Amino acid sequence: MDERGVFTYIGWSRWDRSPYQTVAHIDQPRKTDEKPMAEKVIIIGSGPAAWTAAIYTARAALEPLVFEGAITEENRLAGTLPLGQLALTTEVENYPGFPAGDLEAYLDNSIAKDRRMIMAPHEKQGVSGPELMELMRQQALNFGTRVVTQDVVGVEFDSHPFKLTDSDGQTHQALAVIVATGARANYLGLESEEKFKNRGVSACAVCDGALPRFRNKALAVIGGGDSAIEEADYLSKFASTVYIVHRRDQLRASKFMAQRAMDNPKIEVLWNRTLAEVLGDDSDGVTGVRLKSTAGEPFLEKRVTGVFLSIGHTPNTAFLAGKLELNEKKYIRWTVPFRTNTSAEGVFAAGDVADDYYRQAVTAAASGCQAALDAERWLAAKGLT
Ligand code: NAP
Repeated sequence: MDERGVFTYIGWSRWDRSPYQTVAHIDQPRKTDEKPMAEKVIIIGSGPAAWTAAIYTARAALEPLVFEGAITEENRLAGTLPLGQLALTTEVENYPGFPAGDLEAYLDNSIAKDRRMIMAPHEKQGVSGPELMELMRQQALNFGTRVVTQDVVGVEFDSHPFKLTDSDGQTHQALAVIVATGARANYLGLESEEKFKNRGVSACAVCDGALPRFRNKALAVIGGGDSAIEEADYLSKFASTVYIVHRRDQLRASKFMAQRAMDNPKIEVLWNRTLAEVLGDDSDGVTGVRLKSTAGEPFLEKRVTGVFLSIGHTPNTAFLAGKLELNEKKYIRWTVPFRTNTSAEGVFAAGDVADDYYRQAVTAAASGCQAALDAERWLAAKGLT
């Protein structure tokens, strides 16, 4: 943070990975000679749940402090950079209030110019995931939300005020905490997959699909859900052919998305197949895939220059192990029906980090609102506001 109370950071554009510089303005920076005080609410995360929680808690005069995540190579590779999974998608067609249309003037008007650099080149379909996230972030800033561009790496929920340690080694105290750290894309865990990460293996078509190595070449997408279809559809703009490799004979994707795949002449579904090995060499990276049959057929090899994993998600809860109750899939367990309470009193959870069922931008935003109201009411009941 500089002397004006402004956080400055260098990051990557999601579109060309060139460094960009951007600032998050803080309306009322804390004076350095002030005695450290507990924040009323700390929000961890920067997806729709986190920004919605920030908007609501800011408007409730709880002066939220948001840890939006650190901009590091490690987070980039893991898919956990600030702004979450929506920042890794293309058009968002199902978030209410953003019908397809020309949003350019609205975006210019609403978002700081220096943050417009990370937006997708516009194809005029509607709002994109990164744009939607920038709009939510800006809305939270407009009400006085303060933002720290670091991860939270340690938490102490046994004593009150709660203690949080960030990736810069700083400790912070909070009267209430909202965890909204979301989830990240899964990999299969194959040795060959690990070997060719960044040389043809990716879990994000939008981040990597436009790279020269994938242009006019055959590519493979592994998975049969909505994300796999979305990835394949996006990649088909650059690739010669996109193989969707699915382990069953029926897609998990919604009917609408499945039809989109079937209608795309560049997409071919390879049914009843799983990825056995990514083929490649040290000079060219990925050159093909070896596919196992789940229906007793012989192995099949396809020449491809890229493999995109789209096989579900893992919640970002490693830093909470032993601190909050998690379910068998490591998602945070909501402990009170229809509320966002967790196993630690005063700690609330919102969005995909606690929801492996709906996992939509709009449901995440809704639970961010619920967590903010739950935190506000809990603080009031305890006489802490
Ligand atoms: P998902 O629905 O859980 O689909 C994961 C896919 O990966 C499934 O087809 C699954 O196969 C396959 N898979 C999982 N583990 C595998 C393994 N070890 N080997 C091979 N295949 C494996 O996840 P998602 O597609 O990321 O979608 C998550 C949520 O986001 C869903 O609710 C979805 O509707 C939503 N979403 C919506 C949109 C949209 O509306 N535009 C776009 C993207 C995502 P099985 O089918 O055999 O289980």
